[in-house]
Amino acid sequence: MRALLLWMARNRFLRRNLPRLWFAKRAVRRFMPGEDPEAALDAAEKFKAEGIRSEFTRLGENVETLMECESTAQHYIDLMDQIEARGLDGEVSVKLTQLGYDIDVERTLERAQRLAAKAAEGGRTFWIDMEGSAYAEGTISFYERLKATHANTGLCLQSYLRRTAADIQRLMPLDPRIRLVKGAYAEPESIAYQSRDDVDSSFVSLAVALLEGRQQGRDVRLGLGTHDVELIEQVAARATAMGLPKSSFEVQMLYGIRTDQQRRLVGEGYAVRALISYGHAWYPWYMRRLAERPANVIFALRQIIG
Ligand SMILES: Cc1cc2nc3c(=O)[nH]c(=O)nc-3n(C[C@H](O)[C@H](O)[C@H](O)COP(=O)(O)OP(=O)(O)OC[C@H]3O[C@@H](n4cnc5c(N)ncnc54)[C@H](O)[C@@H]3O)c2cc1C
Repeated sequence: MRALLLWMARNRFLRRNLPRLWFAKRAVRRFMPGEDPEAALDAAEKFKAEGIRSEFTRLGENVETLMECESTAQHYIDLMDQIEARGLDGEVSVKLTQLGYDIDVERTLERAQRLAAKAAEGGRTFWIDMEGSAYAEGTISFYERLKATHANTGLCLQSYLRRTAADIQRLMPLDPRIRLVKGAYAEPESIAYQSRDDVDSSFVSLAVALLEGRQQGRDVRLGLGTHDVELIEQVAARATAMGLPKSSFEVQMLYGIRTDQQRRLVGEGYAVRALISYGHAWYPWYMRRLAERPANVIFALRQIIG
């Protein structure tokens, strides 16, 4: 089922046609408050009232024209103004392919620098998502260049990739800001752990490696981008054993997933941030969410019928 859903996410015909269907629009509502940025900002205001911070991403990847990349960059600049105006503790996270990485890496770097500079004005982090493994090395080298000029930038790393332990050591001298996730794409055994146990134990040891960097005086920021509460608790126990406070990491979850746990963690004194997605290009992203938990397919069908 997971492989089928991930194949559907990549399929061009489905990508073009499925989102037009009313029932698909209805089903996606579980994971996003709406297609407009205003819906995302309104959702963030509600989170703020509950002590939950926010993070925003406009859905869209593998952009093909220069005009689209420019308008995406400008969109995020305007969004950051609105985040500021509404007094939200909100940050922005983007995919490099959304800013034009497939077309021109240097121009993409210029755009990312512009966005990072804008985020710095409000004392915020500007985040870069991690895409499929074909982009891993390029994205990490890109981050090294961006971090050298803009300290307030963060990168997502995936615990299913075998290379990530070495990537963390490579980035440590830069005082990285890392969002650690398990990984959302279909990757082969040669480069990625396949079993849940392996991905989970990699997640804990990578989080501990980042906390050790912090303990040794590096200015590391760690975001645990997972809904796996057991893993969060394992990392929290390791942090406590290392003498680090709860504030040494932040929990990051997606809008609409385990909101009860987000509230519970805030109540226990953890810093929690909800990533709110919006925009009309939600199809591949939505299919990856279904693939993460095939039970969601049943849920989606129920929403369509009911
Ligand atoms: C803030 C954030 C940013 C992310 N950024 C990236 C990125 O840049 N690149 C990337 O490759 N991946 C990214 N991901 C996705 C990530 O890689 C995983 O695919 C996703 O988080 C599911 O794995 P999990 O860690 O929640 O653990 P899982 O083991 O999949 O889930 C743990 C539990 O959480 C619940 N759960 C998890 N997913 C769902 C769901 N879709 N619907 C309902 N319940 C669910 C279930 O109860 C499940 O038992 C991001 C995730 C988050 C939270």
